[in-house]
Amino acid sequence: MIQLYQPLNFMGTFYREVRQAVIDIERMFQILSRHPEIDDRPGATGLAISKGRIVFDEVTFGYERARPILDQVSFCVQPGKTLAIVGPSGAGKSTISRLIFRFYEPQSGRILIDGQDILTVTQKSLRAAIGMVPQDTVLFNDTIGYNIRYGRWEASEAEIREAARLAQIDRFIESIPAGYDAQVGERGLKLSGGEKQRVAIARTILKEPRILVLDEATSALDSFTEHEIQGALRGVSKGRTTLVIAHRLSTIVDADEIIFLDKGRIVERGSHQALLAEGGAYAAMWNRQREASEAQAVLEVAQAEG
Ligand code: ATP
Repeated sequence: MIQLYQPLNFMGTFYREVRQAVIDIERMFQILSRHPEIDDRPGATGLAISKGRIVFDEVTFGYERARPILDQVSFCVQPGKTLAIVGPSGAGKSTISRLIFRFYEPQSGRILIDGQDILTVTQKSLRAAIGMVPQDTVLFNDTIGYNIRYGRWEASEAEIREAARLAQIDRFIESIPAGYDAQVGERGLKLSGGEKQRVAIARTILKEPRILVLDEATSALDSFTEHEIQGALRGVSKGRTTLVIAHRLSTIVDADEIIFLDKGRIVERGSHQALLAEGGAYAAMWNRQREASEAQAVLEVAQAEG
C-alpha cells in the first residue's frame, strides 16, 4: 500500500507544481501580451517604501510618440490620502494607473514614490508595494480560496476569511455548497463582475499594500452591488495612499482631492464641494450623472414591483 501511495503522492505534488507553473506562465503571458516588456535599469534597487507618497511631476506620455495621451500631468497624493481621477472616456485616466505600475514609462517628467523615481527601482519591489484592483478582474481557474490567497501565500485560513468579510464577499462564498473550495473560472462557477471585483478586493486586503490603485468598472452596476463594492473599498483604502479612477462621481465625493482630466490635461482640481461651486466640467458631469441615477432608481423600483 505504502509502495503504491508514494508514487501517487509524488504524482499529486508533481501535478500541483505543474499546475502552478502553468498558471504562472499563463499569468506571465497575460501581462506580456498586453504590455511591452520593460527591463529594470542596471543597478536598480528595491523601492524603499515608507509612507507611500506619490508624485507625478509633469508627466507626458503617449502609446505612440505622435499621439500624446498625457500632457504634463502633475499631482501629489500625500500618505494615507485619496486622490480621485475623473473625466470623459479616453481622457487618459487608466493610463495613469498603468504608468504607476510601470507597464509603460513616461516620455518626459517623473513619477516618484517616497522620493524615488520609479524608473530607478526594480519592478518587482514596485509592484509589491502597490495593490491594484483593476476594472476587469481576471480570476485563476482554481478555487475561490486560492484566488484570495494569491494576495499573500502564507495567509492562514482565518486571515482569508477575514479578508473576505472585509471585502463583503464572505456571505456569498458561504452560500455556495463548496464554499472556499468552489472552483471558479471557465469550468467552474461563473462569478458576476461585482463578485469578481470583491474577490480582487479581498486579495488586495491580504496583500496589505501601502499604495492602492482602484480602477472602477465602467459597466453600470446595479445600485445594491455598487453599494456593497463601495463599502468593501472604503475598508481597504483606509489609511493607505489611494488613487481611484472613477466613472461614477457618487463614489468619490469624500476624496481628499479630485482631478478632472480631459484629453490628457488636468483642467480642474479640488474637493467635491469646491468643484461643484466652480460650476465647470466636473459640476456638469455630476448633474448629468445625478439625473441618470435618479432615472435608474425609478426603473429599479418599477422592475422590483412589476
Ligand atoms: P475610460 O473612461 O473609457 O476607461 P480612460 O480615460 O481610462 O477611458 P485610457 O484607457 O487611459 O482612457 O486611454 C486613453 C487613450 O489611450 C484612449 O484614446 C485609448 O484609445 C488609448 N490607448 C489605451 N491603451 C492603449 C494602447 N495599449 N495602445 C494604444 N493606445 C491606447
